[in-house]
Amino acid sequence: MFEKLLRELKQMEGIKVSIPIETDENGFFDRECPDEECMFEFKVHEEDWKNNFKDESVFCPMCGNESTSDTFWTTEQVNNAQKQAGEYIEGKIHKAMKDDARNFNSRQPKGGFISMNMSVKGHTPQKIIMPIPSQEIFEQKIKCEKCESRYSVIGSAFFCPCCGHNSVEQTFNNTINKIESSINNIPTIRKALNEISKDQSENTCQTLIEKCLLDSVVAFQRYCDIMYSKHKNSKSKIPFNAFQKLDVGGDLWNELFNESYKDWLTETEFKRLNILFQRRHLLQHTEGIVDEKYIAKSFDNKYKSGQRIVVKEKDAIELVIYIKTLTTEIRNKVE
Ligand SMILES: [Zn+2]
Ligand SMILES: [Zn+2]
Repeated sequence: MFEKLLRELKQMEGIKVSIPIETDENGFFDRECPDEECMFEFKVHEEDWKNNFKDESVFCPMCGNESTSDTFWTTEQVNNAQKQAGEYIEGKIHKAMKDDARNFNSRQPKGGFISMNMSVKGHTPQKIIMPIPSQEIFEQKIKCEKCESRYSVIGSAFFCPCCGHNSVEQTFNNTINKIESSINNIPTIRKALNEISKDQSENTCQTLIEKCLLDSVVAFQRYCDIMYSKHKNSKSKIPFNAFQKLDVGGDLWNELFNESYKDWLTETEFKRLNILFQRRHLLQHTEGIVDEKYIAKSFDNKYKSGQRIVVKEKDAIELVIYIKTLTTEIRNKVE
């Protein structure tokens, strides 16, 4: 009675329903980090995925997690595929049952004592598999400087998904971009928080601005550390946190290039850079309270010992500008 259904079910053992995935208009398709803590969404170029990527290892651009290529489906793709495969199989079973019922009914003896009729209710059309659509394009497109694979992200990325390469340039640019957008967003944040509490608003904005100063110096130091070690004449051992100190770091560059920070900035700019670096030092070590050491090192005559420094948005912007100038010089000279 259920010949067709049984045959269909037998055929379905180990059935593979393949569902195509669409690329966006730039040829990128969606991927997602399989690490549950991260789940960072990114896109890779379809051609590079086919030609460059290895089945055994793909990297998350955000956290660097390494996993096999078949684990990078997005949540959206998995849900969509499960739904479509389910409907497809359901459709097949339903059709088989309907056919069986029709067969059964046609074989009924006419005019018999008992008449039986079998019908399968409902209408499940044979499912046509639709490609899974792509998310809209991401603005930031990146090409790995090492393996040339193309990928696309929102916000920051640190690792190439294909070869795992961590680009010092990319990391530095990401941090500086984040700092710049934090500074630019402060007026909006201040305005929004003012509605709730003026005190809270001022405290939050102050913390944000000071964090920009701290982060800029850390980004600069990390960049210098790596760029310095890339140079063929660099010393293998340099003092700890050398590039957080302008005098120590400046001397290291001088040994390599015969020029340094003082040659790359005007005298006034260098003085300001020194003040901002020293203020960063205070924020890090004395909660911003001025001490004699600060006054001696910064030549800042605006404060007396015991005062608390004030950092404004314009100071953070100024520091970012100097750091960009210096890192451009370093980049050009190292490469
Ligand atoms: Zn990740
Ligand atoms: Zn790469």
